[in-house]
Amino acid sequence: MSDFEQNLQAANQYLQRFRANVTGHYIDGEFTVPDGSATYDNTTPTDNSSLGQVVEGSAADVTAACQAAERAFPAWRDLPGKQRRDLLHHFADMIEARAEEIALVESMDCGQPIRFMKQAAVRGAANFRFFADKAAEARNGLALHQDEHTNYTIRSPIGPVGVITPWNTPFMLSTWKIAPALAAGCTVVHKPAELSPLSAMLLAEISREAGIPAGVWNTVNGFGEVAGKTLTEHPAVKAVALVGETATGSHIMRQGADTLKRVHFELGGKNPVLVFDDADFDRALDAVVFMIYSLNGQRCTSSSRLLVQSGIRDRFIAALEDRVTALRVGHSLDPDTEVGPLVHTGHFDKVMSYMDAAREDGATIAVGGERREDLGPGNYVSPTLFIDADNSMRIAREEIFGPVLTAISFETEEEAVRIANDTPYGLSGYIWTGDTGRAMRLARSVEAGMLWVNSENNRNLPSPFGGIKMSGIGRDGGDYSFDFYMETKNVCIAHDTHRVPALGR
Ligand code: NAD
Repeated sequence: MSDFEQNLQAANQYLQRFRANVTGHYIDGEFTVPDGSATYDNTTPTDNSSLGQVVEGSAADVTAACQAAERAFPAWRDLPGKQRRDLLHHFADMIEARAEEIALVESMDCGQPIRFMKQAAVRGAANFRFFADKAAEARNGLALHQDEHTNYTIRSPIGPVGVITPWNTPFMLSTWKIAPALAAGCTVVHKPAELSPLSAMLLAEISREAGIPAGVWNTVNGFGEVAGKTLTEHPAVKAVALVGETATGSHIMRQGADTLKRVHFELGGKNPVLVFDDADFDRALDAVVFMIYSLNGQRCTSSSRLLVQSGIRDRFIAALEDRVTALRVGHSLDPDTEVGPLVHTGHFDKVMSYMDAAREDGATIAVGGERREDLGPGNYVSPTLFIDADNSMRIAREEIFGPVLTAISFETEEEAVRIANDTPYGLSGYIWTGDTGRAMRLARSVEAGMLWVNSENNRNLPSPFGGIKMSGIGRDGGDYSFDFYMETKNVCIAHDTHRVPALGR
């Protein structure tokens, strides 16, 4: 049996129970399918067959989860940090123990190639371990001295929080958001993306098996318009962390206005990669290919706009064409696959619509542009490279979120910066140059929350992660996450030496 066949067989075993039973919610420590629930069909992008029915969470279901999180909050908040740390490490151990299941289920549910999903459990566990180790010190504040007073600050968890995640790398992103919330002492109601609910249920199972108390971790499935909306409006929920589209961020801000929700948004991007004539050609080429065609291009930090300097343009584009043509598209469980199927037929149609937009706007499709009919009924698109493009075209302005790269040429550093910044987004940027001074200048002038110089996206958990402009509000990572999930209280103590104002004496 080939590795692919073995993966397929193992995945089918893991998926059997999802196919046979309705996937419900996890509320107050119980897995539940409420009576009379509506359900929807969850499909695999590999061939659009069913992976089973999933409950469409109602407002009542979400309310029950929020109330459970509210009840569980005081005890979880007051648990000594060391105990929270030990529990979260135990949780991470259990993620690692189910790594194969997580990778295979995730890959079938969202279409991400198994070569990348193999890391999902390791990275998810690393997120928990990193924040677990900080649980005990998360409350530490500052000491702020005055001549006759001493101030100190205390941080405390904000309360129950809503975590709303997308479908592109659901397991990894869910752990990235939930780990710091739990480490801070918040309780959580998680609303996973409707298109990829399965790994969230594995997480909920692990949380129960790991002994995380009932109500501390709740998962409610369903659609954004009902389940997500109710979560963002519920008064018990003090903050909402969303990873999703920019338009969804705007909705949530409106929905949360009446209850003055604190919000944290990790949103869309149209991230530029700037390749200068003096760049290390081969390393830049590898990184450009990796940062748009890995994870099916369904990656918020993907470098979807290539800005290449005129001196190397022709050579770079020719090399790129060869590499994009050679990318191996296939079933997500095939270990050889580099680009898998897109998450859903609706998203596939959206990505394909940009092939027409490219032609209409006057760009050239140098590679790809078609459905891979030979791969059967799944959502397979051939990796695509647009050339002869300028930054006014829809393919340069809108987030396509597929294995689709738009290449634009520039002459000077000033022009590169102007094009890079001519976008409503500001999530990430990548700079390839051999000139350190130029890298330093661009680090200041390119508008983005995160810049990588001579590197692809490199993960560092203490570093701030997030976007500016329409790409987000707030930062995750290290202490930045605790700033979001915690309130800061200032305590001011007099030295009994100052004059207290005396009225009516
Ligand atoms: P989406 O915004 O459609 O959905 C994200 C989540 O929001 C889902 O769980 C959805 O059900 C929920 N939702 C939708 N409408 C809602 C509403 N009115 N109220 C409450 N919840 C609602 O995003 P998607 O299509 O699942 O994911 C792709 C997007 O996510 C892309 O734009 C991508 O750039 C972005 N993303 C950003 C980052 C980042 O770190 N900046 C990371 C990954 C993905």
